[in-house]
Amino acid sequence: MSGDRLRLFLAVDIPEETRRLLAAALERYGGEIPEARWVKAENLHITLKFIGGYEEEKLERLSNEIRKTAALSAPFRAALGGCGGFPSPRKARVLWVGMRGGQEEAAGLAGKLDARLEKVGVKREDRPFKGHLTVARLRRPADCSSLLGMMEGELEPLAEMPFEVREITFYRSILGPGGPTYVPLEKIALGEGEDGKG
Ligand code: ATP
Ligand code: MG
Repeated sequence: MSGDRLRLFLAVDIPEETRRLLAAALERYGGEIPEARWVKAENLHITLKFIGGYEEEKLERLSNEIRKTAALSAPFRAALGGCGGFPSPRKARVLWVGMRGGQEEAAGLAGKLDARLEKVGVKREDRPFKGHLTVARLRRPADCSSLLGMMEGELEPLAEMPFEVREITFYRSILGPGGPTYVPLEKIALGEGEDGKG
């Protein structure tokens, strides 16, 4: 067994218009927190399920299971909005933009993927799902409350930019010194299931 492992995850991609608005906000405020490493605009996504290291030889089976699970979930409408810090704005290690719509559907889908992929050897999530886009990571926790307050205003137009989630993307992540590269392996449609939705 060669056992080559790929680092994999499943995500919802965001529309180009939304990406541009976020990129402008990040560009504007990116310099304010020196210890923050900002996510490149092209890398922004909502993670549904982090799969982690997975044997390349078993990829086809994994992919089949993802397709079956996605087919049992209907497309849904999502919107982004608001921002915050994990674990808290005052001691942030991660800055995020939230979901203002579609979070229940996203959580439902994430939960289904989490449960179904266990059958093909993927570790289950130990934390509850919270739909978000990670926009920055901090090497050391920092107080980001005033930055987040300013960003909040800049992100207001997102309320008017809902979008339809019709598919998820199966990504391979290649970590490197200049940050991760996400390679889309497959787009997987939602809701082509027996009820004929989507
Ligand atoms: P880096 O690790 O270099 O900071 P990254 O976190 O963007 O980059 P990955 O670690 O490959 O790249 O993660 C891919 C996606 O999966 C990201 O959205 C990340 O937040 C999420 N993720 C990574 N590890 C976990 C984990 N243990 N649990 C849940 N989600 C995770
Ligand atoms: Mg990571």
